Amino acid sequence: MKISVVKDILEANDRIARQNRELFDEKGVTVFNLMSSPGAGKTSLLEKTIEAVQGKIRLGVIEGDIQSSQDAERIARFGIPVVQINTGGACHLDGNMIRDTFEEFDFDELDLLVVENVGNLVCPAEFQVGEDFKAMILSVTEGEDKPAKYPLMFHESRVLLINKIDLVPYVDCDVEKIREEALKVNPHLTIFDISCKTGEGLDAWCEWLVETVRKRKSA
Ligand code: MG
Ligand code: ZN
Repeated sequence: MKISVVKDILEANDRIARQNRELFDEKGVTVFNLMSSPGAGKTSLLEKTIEAVQGKIRLGVIEGDIQSSQDAERIARFGIPVVQINTGGACHLDGNMIRDTFEEFDFDELDLLVVENVGNLVCPAEFQVGEDFKAMILSVTEGEDKPAKYPLMFHESRVLLINKIDLVPYVDCDVEKIREEALKVNPHLTIFDISCKTGEGLDAWCEWLVETVRKRKSA
């Protein structure tokens, strides 16, 4: 019985995610779902990304947090549309929460919508929100064992950003090992080594992103 309840929740969510997807398709908006554990650098990555791609593509952001609007305030400084979702305890975003933000956006004026999920390496990977793809950040301070311990996250992501690469000399972390372990779980991952602090690797990521949005738009 318990198993079928969980399955029902996921199926109901998938249905709503598909409806979200239809709207995004109709409007030609690329959507990515950004996931990581708390503190890996999701909002910092968004700040750096917005700085670099603003003017090339039109972005909007949905911020997901259990509480507070601190992240939305950080994003609002760039003058782009941003909505904060407070889940009030729930540890992931779902299709319904995303749908509830729709009236806050004019999708005719957007090329890219980024959904910053709640910081959590577990269930955000299970819930579709209608995204084109999922991207995740793993920072070098988290350890090489994470792909093996939290495989679903790596399995569901198209992109892995290995962040805080500037800290490698100070922490016991073998980046090559992270890459190896992550690719064992998901050989299709596109991997970027980045530092939101020094800016290293961000050009490659931003170029990839702009290219992905443009390709989708013209498809
Ligand atoms: Mg954040
Ligand atoms: Zn959850």
